[in-house]
Amino acid sequence: MSRALLVIDYTNDFVAEDGALTCGAPGREIEEAIAERIKEAMERGEEIFFAVDLHEKEEPDHPEAELFPPHNIRGEPGRELFGQVNNLYESIKDNPGVHWLDKTRYSAFAGTPLRLLLRQKEIHTVALAGVCTDICILHTAVDAYNEGFRIQVDQAHVASFNKTGHEWALSHFKNTLGADVQR
Ligand code: ZN
Repeated sequence: MSRALLVIDYTNDFVAEDGALTCGAPGREIEEAIAERIKEAMERGEEIFFAVDLHEKEEPDHPEAELFPPHNIRGEPGRELFGQVNNLYESIKDNPGVHWLDKTRYSAFAGTPLRLLLRQKEIHTVALAGVCTDICILHTAVDAYNEGFRIQVDQAHVASFNKTGHEWALSHFKNTLGADVQR
């Protein structure tokens, strides 16, 4: 059984101290662990998908327009990956097993070729990393479940601005989606 690593929304806007929609210190505390996990995936030959929220400058009809301030705007520094994860991405991005997916909704599956790519590569398990545990990781996990993929989440690799939401999502992954949750 083959496994892929999904790194979700680990960008400056979602993680940096001055990010437009930052999840704060919890997001920065997982930087090192995510970087290590990416290195492990490279060593094991696992496919790695960087699924990154994409917005345009003017998007009045986007469902997030009334919910959140502008974030992850195309071509702006806020949309670049954060810190060590960005450095690592820059050094591995030409590897054929490393993929970048622009997404415009919470889930990495919504409107992207992720499902097709996973099926094509006969991947049955997705390991989820990034932010926020109770928003984009959650929606990606639900879609992965509905598409029949096994899910792995290490709590050291996910974070949220909302501690209660983070804890709730981890238990939902385990108890409702049958995920392998490492705590
Ligand atoms: Zn967004």
